[in-house]
Amino acid sequence: MKRALITGITGQDGSYLAELLLDKGYEVYGFARPESWYRANCATHLAGKIKMLLGDIAEGLDVSNAICDSMPDEIYNLASQSRPGESWSRAAETLQVNGLAAVRLFEAVRHNRPTARIYHASSSEMFGRPSKAPQDEDTAFSPVNPYAATKVYAHNMASIYRSSYGLYIACGILFNHESERRPLHFLTQKVAYGAACAALGVTDSPDRNERGRPIVEQGRLALGNLQVARDWGYAPDFVRAMWMILQQPEPADFVIGTGRLHTLEDLCGYAYECVDCDWRESVFSDPELVRPLETAHVLADASKAENDLGWRPTVSFQEMVRLMVEAQIKRLKPLMTR
Ligand code: NDP
Repeated sequence: MKRALITGITGQDGSYLAELLLDKGYEVYGFARPESWYRANCATHLAGKIKMLLGDIAEGLDVSNAICDSMPDEIYNLASQSRPGESWSRAAETLQVNGLAAVRLFEAVRHNRPTARIYHASSSEMFGRPSKAPQDEDTAFSPVNPYAATKVYAHNMASIYRSSYGLYIACGILFNHESERRPLHFLTQKVAYGAACAALGVTDSPDRNERGRPIVEQGRLALGNLQVARDWGYAPDFVRAMWMILQQPEPADFVIGTGRLHTLEDLCGYAYECVDCDWRESVFSDPELVRPLETAHVLADASKAENDLGWRPTVSFQEMVRLMVEAQIKRLKPLMTR
């Protein structure tokens, strides 16, 4: 039986990946901060099926203890301060968790479990304002926010540890991927939530945004720049790619994305259409929510993953948006009838 250690298991990707690995017969160890594990999280339903190791990824000792206690064959390093928008106000913490912690993990593996294969979560945000489109594994990085800069640092260190010490470290340069498990402060989930509120006639929502205001206030949903465009895929498809990447005989980096671009307006259109509402009556662009510098319209060229891994996305953007809206309606309905 193969053993896998997943950092960031309480998050969206960690929880889907744990399910996938359990299905494949792996013994799964999760690493999470105690405060996240003991509250409801994306992996709560897996309690009893996975073994938990508690600690902070930014603490080198916690990381090396987790490796010694699990002696994994595969490590999926997903723990991250994963919100680019918030990385402006939490720049130093973002560097600790996304950058330095990755290096501590590589060091711990080098000294304690050098045969383990490591998947490291890199991001399309690293492309920032790229000089070519679409982007593949050879496209230069040009980060435009603190989150992206820390991801570039860890990505470069992964490559340095791979070539200097012969460690098996593979990075997935993943484009945006969403699901019913996305937290409410992420753009796609906010839109799904807004559509669900419109469907249920909720004018002042029970959940609040980062400014402490109802996410939907007086029937209106505030978003940033509506012209931003992203290559959005479905998270369960993307965690399948993570596993495939670690099954390759040699470590290599892979771009993973759908190769299709959608604007935030498209997203709003699909989400509100699912509930027969017109998004223009509810959604508005709030200048306060526009980022200081926006990542360009990055688009994946995932042909290497398609050719070498046989990976392809299976769930379309429209299907994904529908799943997210339906999940929000299901969640909100009982709250509304109380
Ligand atoms: P989530 O935010 O859902 O999960 C991140 C996880 O990291 C959470 O479990 C979080 O736990 C954990 N974490 C944060 N800080 C620490 C810490 N100090 N110690 C231990 N754990 C910590 O992100 P996703 O699942 O969406 O993403 C997984 C990875 O993939 C991340 O590295 C992300 O940056 C990257 N990525 C994601 C993309 C996407 O579109 N989803 C695109 C490209 C890359 P807690 O509850 O404690 O905060």
